[in-house]
Parts: sequence; structure tokens; C-alpha cells
Amino acid sequence: MIMPDNTVFVKVENPNMAPDRTKNQRLPMAQRLTTYEEVEKTYTEEEALREASRCMGCPSRWCSKECPAGMPVPEFIKAVRAGDYEAAYALISSASTLPEFCSRLCPQEKQCQSNCTRSIRTEAVGIGRLERFVVEKHYENAKPETAKPDGKRVAVVGSGPSGLSAAQRLADKGYAVTVIEAEEKPGGLLRYGIPNMKLEKGILDRKIDAMKSQGVAFQTGVTATAETVKDYDAVVLAVGTGNARSIPMAGAEGARGIYKAVDFLAARPDAAGKDVVIVGGGDTGNDCVGTAIRQGAASITQIEMLPEVTKVSFIVDPIPGKPAEKKFDSSQEEHLNKFLRDPHIYQATVKAVKTDETGNICAVTVVRLQAGYDDSRRLVMTEIPGSERTLPCGILVIAAGFLGPKAETAAAFGVDTTARSNIADTGYQTSAEKIFACGDCRTGQSLVVKAMVDGRDCADAVDAYLSK
Ligand SMILES: Cc1cc2nc3c(=O)[nH]c(=O)nc-3n(C[C@H](O)[C@H](O)[C@H](O)COP(=O)(O)OP(=O)(O)OC[C@H]3O[C@@H](n4cnc5c(N)ncnc54)[C@H](O)[C@@H]3O)c2cc1C
Ligand code: SF4
Repeated sequence: MIMPDNTVFVKVENPNMAPDRTKNQRLPMAQRLTTYEEVEKTYTEEEALREASRCMGCPSRWCSKECPAGMPVPEFIKAVRAGDYEAAYALISSASTLPEFCSRLCPQEKQCQSNCTRSIRTEAVGIGRLERFVVEKHYENAKPETAKPDGKRVAVVGSGPSGLSAAQRLADKGYAVTVIEAEEKPGGLLRYGIPNMKLEKGILDRKIDAMKSQGVAFQTGVTATAETVKDYDAVVLAVGTGNARSIPMAGAEGARGIYKAVDFLAARPDAAGKDVVIVGGGDTGNDCVGTAIRQGAASITQIEMLPEVTKVSFIVDPIPGKPAEKKFDSSQEEHLNKFLRDPHIYQATVKAVKTDETGNICAVTVVRLQAGYDDSRRLVMTEIPGSERTLPCGILVIAAGFLGPKAETAAAFGVDTTARSNIADTGYQTSAEKIFACGDCRTGQSLVVKAMVDGRDCADAVDAYLSK
């Protein structure tokens, strides 16, 4: 165990000892149910200063250690408290190339905030909210940087968080970077997956504009291959995991009204008045719940294969005997408000679909599952015979995760893949000369902050390669 170095402890003067985190403004529930406007609002200056005073500046820096980016959390919060927001921004930028997204999208309760000393007895410091405040303050005052990079030429294929992060870091180092994106607009899952209520697309456009003025070129609507990038000095593949996992369902072939989660979120097919069934109880499934609510679905059922996870309290039970609080995702909160119930059916899956005379899906057969372990002590879920039931269903969404990148993408660049179908690498270098890989296509399905860190560190590997 790493022990804190208390020799450098500097006492925080007049700390705010309030047990609760300072609340930020949120979109009123009535608007949340009908519009795609971002739900969480940025702290005001007064709220930020109040919350910054809750940080005790622990020398142990447990929060930083639990941040995948290694953010200097106590240091940037100290700068906020001193009112020096640009110094706070410089500290944040030293660890993160994309703080505008991480501060909104990180599961902070499982990362930096899970390790905040104050969370042992009270609520953790609102680290993500403070980070977001600092970034927004920076953009209020920032003058666009104009640069004409003249370094070696690097192509970044894919413009999700890992591609943007690699491009930003390489541009900061003076390389002439071109980001090549197959979709009409850049952003990857930041644009075509994560819904607007979690990340306003204007925030993404603002980042891309800032990168353009720094000299990064964007080519969109181009599906790159080895031929497209052959004249560059180095290439970074940041192509994501475009291969959505499917589940076997009798009668599904040719049925209309079945969508992969990303297609449902991007295309928003009309779910008004329909019974929507979502397979997948994770964050992507939750985003589909929020989208179906805003579409005016008649009912929403979210089917999760695994048992319900209940919160385990450790170290000290803050209020002994108090039942563990259930933490609701924003979309779950909205569902509870609109339909007065949790949308989940746990330990279940859809095993068959039924269509009407026009070929549209009209019902699904749901079967209950029981948990057990195989010989290698791996969890296996098996059907409980006779537990089938039929649910009406006008739209079925499959949010069951992703496998690696599409096989044709790896083949188009002649790079090897792993047994899990991710792009194989050694220190970000793929099996092909001058081609590097980062993000979900290298690590498998992950998080925005992890993709950002991967892009950042891959750029350093490219820099080392080109500096030889
Ligand atoms: C619905 C949904 C919600 C999520 N919500 C969160 C969240 O709240 N918080 C969080 O931390 N994470 C979240 N994630 C996970 C997160 O979005 C991903 O981990 C992250 O986007 C991966 O980044 P990436 O850059 O590796 O890939 P992607 O974002 O997938 O980007 C890859 C890009 O490469 C492009 N591309 C592929 N092949 C080519 C080619 N040959 N030529 C040109 N371009 C190509 C694709 O079009 C795409 O734009 C969510 C994921 C989904 C699906
Ligand atoms: S990058 Fe994410 S995990 Fe790290 S400090 Fe910021 S919000 Fe927390």
C-alpha cells in the first residue's frame, strides 16, 4: 500500500466542511423529458469557489492516483480557490488533451471522486464539476491560437477521443497533422454515440475549431486505407470498435424495427407511442432509455443479463444502519419520474422476436437467467426453463457492447490483430511500418478518458519514432 507523505501537508485555511457537494444547476425535469438539451450545467463562479474550499489538499493525492490521466487534482483545485483559473487550466491541460469531454463524461464516482478522502464520511469533492468550470472559464477568455505547423506529416485515422487526443498532442509538438474521418463530421462516438443531453455537440465543434486554428487539418467523409496515408511520415489508427455485438434471437432475421444502440442514438427512429425494449443494462443502454423517453415512447423496458449490482460500503459506514442509497443514472432518474418505476428486468435476455404481417417487430420473448460458474470459475448465465414471457415491442435496441474494430479496417492497413480482434501493437507500434494504433481499436471498448490517455501516449510514441 502506498502511504501518504504527510511531511508536505499544508493546512487549508477556512475549509468548507459542508458534508454535501455543492449542487450544480440542472435542466428542469419537464424540459429533460422532451428536449435533448444538456442536463448538467456548469458551476457559477460562486458555486465553484464554494466547492473548491471543500478540498483539503491531501498530500496523499488519492484522487489523482485514481484518475486514468493522473490529473493534478489538489493542485488545480488550489488554483481555483486562489481565483487563478488560467493556472488551473494549465495544470489540467498538462494531464488531459480533452478536459471539456472528460469533465462531462467520466464516471467520476468510480474514478477520481471514488478516492477523495472526504468521501469516506461525506460526499466527495465535485472534481469533475470543478474541472468543467475551469475549462469553460478558459474558453470564455481564450483567443484562438493560430499556427502553421511545419514539422513532419502525421495522419490520424479516426476522430473519436483517441484520434483527437493524438492529433492535439502531435500538433502541440509541432507536427503537421491531418485527421481523416469516414463520417460526415468529426468526433466519433462523441458525436454519433453519446447523446446530446450528456454532451452538447457545440462543445465538440468548439474543440475542433480550436484544433483547426492550431493548424490541424480535418478530412471527413473519407474511409482511409493504407493507400490514402502512404505519403505521411507516420500514421495513427484511432478507428474505434465499429463491430457491435449481436445476440442470437429466433425470428430476428429480416425483421424491421431492430437497431444497434449506436444507430438508434444517431438516427433516432420515431419511437413515439411505441413499446421500446432495450437489451443491455449498461451506460449505452441507459443513453437509449433517455433517448426513447425524449422520443415519447409508450413504455421502455431495459433487459440486463447480469444480476443487479448493489452498492458495497467499505472502510466506514458513514451513517451506520442507513440503507445503501441507490445511485440513479440521469436517464434512469427521468424514467422513474415519467413511468414511476425502474425500467430494468435483471437476469434476463431476449431469445426470440415476433413480427406482424408487414414484417415489423411486434413482440419479444424474454427468458429469465440464473447465475452459475463454469470449471474455470467464470460467471455463466443459463436460461431458466419455463420462465419465458412475451412483451409487446415496437422497437428493439441491442446495446450489448462491442467487439474489436471491423475486420476489413485492420485488413485495409495490413496490420495484425489479437485473439480478441483488437489491433495488435508493441508500445503502440503495429505490425506495419510507421503505423501506430490507439484507443478502443487497440484496447477494446473503454471510456473517453482512457481513449484520451491512449491517444496522448501514442502521440509520444510517434514523436519518439519520428525523432530517431
Ligand atoms: C452510446 C455510448 C455512450 C457512451 N458514453 C460514454 C460516457 O458517458 N463516458 C465515457 O467515458 N465513455 C462513454 N462511451 C465510450 C466512449 O465513447 C468510447 O470509449 C470512445 O469514444 C472510444 O474512442 P475512440 O477514439 O477509440 O473511438 P471512436 O469514438 O469509436 O472513434 C473512431 C472513429 O474512427 C472512424 N473510422 C473508423 N474506420 C475508419 C477509416 N477506415 N477511415 C476513417 N475513419 C475511420 C469512425 O468513423 C469513428 O469516427 C460511450 C460509448 C457509447 C457507444
Ligand atoms: S479526467 Fe476524469 S477521472 Fe480524471 S480528474 Fe478529470 S473527471 Fe476525474
